[in-house]
Amino acid sequence: MTMDPRIRILPETLSNQIAAGEVVERAASVLKELIENSLDAGATRIQVVLKRQGNDLIQVIDNGSGIAVEDVPMAFERHATSKISTLDDLFALRSLGFRGEALPSIAAVARVEIQTRRQEDEHGWSYRVEGGTTGEVEPTAGPVGTSLAIKALFFNTPARRKFLKSPATEYGHLLGVFKRFALAFPAVDWSLMHDDHPVYTLRSGDLKSRIVALYGEKVQDQIRQINLSESGTSAAGFVGTTELMRRSRGDQFIFLNNRPIENRIISHAVIAGLDPLVRPGDYPFYVLKLDMDPHGFDVNVHPSKAEVKFRDESAVHQVVRHAIRAAMGSGDVKPAIPGKVKPTETPRKTAARVPQTPAPQKPMPIEVMDALYKPVQAEPVVVEKAAPRPASPDRKESVVEDRAPEVAEPEEPEEAAALWQLHNKYILSQIKSGLAIIDQHAAHERILFERAMRYFRNPPNPSQHLLFPEILELTIEDWNTLKEYASLFKDLGFVLSDFGPRTIRVEAVPSGLRVSNEGKLLKNLLDEVREQKKAHPDPREAVAASFACKGAIRAGDPLSEVEMNALVNELFRSEFPYSCPHGRPTVINLSLNELDRRFRRS
Ligand code: ADP
Ligand code: MG
Repeated sequence: MTMDPRIRILPETLSNQIAAGEVVERAASVLKELIENSLDAGATRIQVVLKRQGNDLIQVIDNGSGIAVEDVPMAFERHATSKISTLDDLFALRSLGFRGEALPSIAAVARVEIQTRRQEDEHGWSYRVEGGTTGEVEPTAGPVGTSLAIKALFFNTPARRKFLKSPATEYGHLLGVFKRFALAFPAVDWSLMHDDHPVYTLRSGDLKSRIVALYGEKVQDQIRQINLSESGTSAAGFVGTTELMRRSRGDQFIFLNNRPIENRIISHAVIAGLDPLVRPGDYPFYVLKLDMDPHGFDVNVHPSKAEVKFRDESAVHQVVRHAIRAAMGSGDVKPAIPGKVKPTETPRKTAARVPQTPAPQKPMPIEVMDALYKPVQAEPVVVEKAAPRPASPDRKESVVEDRAPEVAEPEEPEEAAALWQLHNKYILSQIKSGLAIIDQHAAHERILFERAMRYFRNPPNPSQHLLFPEILELTIEDWNTLKEYASLFKDLGFVLSDFGPRTIRVEAVPSGLRVSNEGKLLKNLLDEVREQKKAHPDPREAVAASFACKGAIRAGDPLSEVEMNALVNELFRSEFPYSCPHGRPTVINLSLNELDRRFRRS
């Protein structure tokens, strides 16, 4: 790019300083540009050395291609780049840099020293630029590759220096850049020194080992692999389970053809692919690597190249959403539960004692969960350890199931998965990778929530009819809530009839619940719906969440082996097994690795 001399009023140094304002916002932006250059030069080892949060020194040493001696001064001229030569290259970009702006901009606001040597050179060359004033190219010793040392950043632009935030903030940004590239390029060896202390030494490996190296061994069990290709875009990487959910932004990484980017469409799609109940203030952990034809996007929309514009935004959104959803549904945490309860097509028979109601119009597929409420002895699975226990004391005798207990079907003998209940609160289960700990209340909440949502799509839930319908007088508030949500309550399986002013008759309640007091259940639900409404603008979600919350078994409820089986089984058949409707985890894994480590077996 050559400029007409007549309009070139700005001295070169000044215009570089202006450009520097765009590219070099802070120390972290310098680091980013230097690392990009090293990667573009094919480096497999990159060492970063910082002093005083980059104020005194930002140095990047690589083992890449090096620069030919005659090109060294060129590299510091504006729009000098070895990476693109035609406009078409710009649209088919594979390298990280391309604007040819970074080095001259940095050199305009700092003291820069470069040492570089190519494989074929007998020795290296060094060169200095200070605030735009160049020195001589001089021979020097040194290994193959390039070292760029940026000293006294913003020494000649005090106004810029004032914009810098606290040292901790600036250091945080530097670390962020380092981590981002270390994650994008796990096959590269990285190291980071700050004020002569080693901060990270990362050996090349795969992405998972890189994540573990940066975030600690613990995360191994808290991430799920992303792996999906759709309409020309492939998505790979890892997404954290709810255990890794953060209250602050920071550990979300998006790479497009290995370029770290920021993009609202994609971050939105990740959230959309996660549980719909992830709250707006939650930040999931993810490292998402997208690959697509470079013609599908444009990176040249921002000088720091961090933002891209996609040609087909909705297609990208969809791929990411699907990829995240698939990842969250995967994982080896599913316990191997024996005696799988098969969904059976047998239409249900009504227990003769109560006249059948019109409530279940369509035969519902039998939910595995129903096993929870079957008498223990009706269950075909015989588990050695299962101690005979009396029916739950809170099982309501006045409740008659709409169906007769099914005849036990013979099951293939399978080895029983071990399940234990801990303090009537947690279920422990052996899984392939170690131990799964399930919160029985949270798990049941998840199950009930999804069931409710299913019943809303495909109503109604079968009802349990009460032998003695309950008459309830409601407060104005409850009455109004009930009127507002009447059809959803009906879909849940409530059969209610008017009995007088603000008075209703509860004739049936949703089946599949352990209820001891139907009237109280209804009132609690109405109360809860008003609460949930605040968090869930969708009335169906509000009612489903309330139903889950008030209907679920509680901590303290003893469960039989059969009940535990049914619970665990249905949990892992749900769409989002890993968190309850409030976003709390339902399952925590303790891997054998973790146990071995804690017992110092190595
Ligand atoms: P860009 O990266 O956009 O091309 P830069 O100003 O960042 O522009 O760098 C200018 C040129 O200097 C690059 O095109 C490259 O040829 C050379 N260069 C910079 N850093 C390195 C490095 N670490 N190793 C090899 N070449 C480099
Ligand atoms: Mg560059």
